[in-house]
Amino acid sequence: MDSGKPTANALGGGVLIELPPARIHPTALVERDVRIGPGSSVWDNVHIRYSTTIGQECIVGEKTHISYEVVIGDRVKINAFVYICTAVTIEDGVMISAGTIFTNDRFPRATTSDLRELRTSAPDEHTLPTLVKAGATIGAGAIIGCGLSIGRFGMVGMGSVVTRTVPDFHLVVGNPARTIAYVCRCGEPFARFRPGELPDVAPTACHVCGLRYSAAAGAVSELG
Ligand SMILES: [Zn+2]
Repeated sequence: MDSGKPTANALGGGVLIELPPARIHPTALVERDVRIGPGSSVWDNVHIRYSTTIGQECIVGEKTHISYEVVIGDRVKINAFVYICTAVTIEDGVMISAGTIFTNDRFPRATTSDLRELRTSAPDEHTLPTLVKAGATIGAGAIIGCGLSIGRFGMVGMGSVVTRTVPDFHLVVGNPARTIAYVCRCGEPFARFRPGELPDVAPTACHVCGLRYSAAAGAVSELG
């Protein structure tokens, strides 16, 4: 395990601060070849399997399981009781709320067809990747399907079952999850509508932070 050495991090105004080495709770189980960036915290009874990479200034909440060869970016918040399987990639600034479950096989079986042999648990042709793009939020208790992505600053409502790719800035809810709003970088919806309606939106400003957006055919554009 490599907890990283103190490094400098440029914050607003170009001020450099030293990041402390990663803090790993003594009850956490961290396997070989795991890299955890400086300023990150791993809480009690977390299990991180081999060859996983976690960036800097991340938080991994208690009793979370992160499987092998998972890649996690910087400033990612992972709450307690989260299950992240192999073939998942999480970009910078993502929030994963408590009890979220990822999957990586759409039609899984324990054994071969004659029931005589366990199938391998290692990645094979059935293993499908999932990508969570920068700034996205996943609500508590969500279940995330595989062979899909969750778009930049996308948002998944609590308890949702995500079976299809979530476009950038879309807020999805339900089972199967469907878009009910477009959301700002700050998390505030700037257009709400009936599930799946995807209206075009003329240039409009978020009433909370003032960032401006438009939307056409379900594609949200940032206007600054
Ligand atoms: Zn906003």
